[in-house]
Amino acid sequence: MSNIKVIKESIDDEYTKVVEEQKDIEEDIKLFEGYDVVQKYLSMLRRKEETDKKESCIYKAILKKKYFSCKHVLVESYTEPIDNYEGRAHHYYGCIKCGMNEAVWEQDYYRNREEKVMKEILQEYRITFLPGIKTGITMDIYKAKELYDRLREIYPEIDEDVLADLFKKVVEKEREKTVVKILKDKQKCMSDGSSIC
Ligand SMILES: [Zn+2]
Repeated sequence: MSNIKVIKESIDDEYTKVVEEQKDIEEDIKLFEGYDVVQKYLSMLRRKEETDKKESCIYKAILKKKYFSCKHVLVESYTEPIDNYEGRAHHYYGCIKCGMNEAVWEQDYYRNREEKVMKEILQEYRITFLPGIKTGITMDIYKAKELYDRLREIYPEIDEDVLADLFKKVVEKEREKTVVKILKDKQKCMSDGSSIC
């Protein structure tokens, strides 16, 4: 028998077996569907599916409201170099008030559920750049947002512009302190006579 004929017969056999199994399962399902408890279970599954859909719609609507009513305060973030030849990295703006982040456009992974839905919203409205107050700070948006939220807690009454300015000053001050510390450590290391500083 030729090889092709053997393969065809084995596929035919396999198909017949699967179709028989399908029929058996369908008959079993029909039997089970006769029970009240199974009917109740199926109805609960349908309700769960409907509720999940509704919850997703409302969740998305809440995010849209948050993003579109926000007067954004922006920091810049950079993606990993995406160009192996020239090592270019893109920069994006993200809002430290509402969390909307242009960088999510390029992401194929999500740090949380909000990022996944945020990408859907960015795509739906073709939002490629965010207007708003630019702080001129380059920083991870999550860390920046955490700091901004802390400042907002301390100063609940002050205007957005003033708070954005304060945020910028705090970050710059912290960075200045870090640079001074690095320089001092280096100086100390050199004065101690170490060859590696
Ligand atoms: Zn915002």
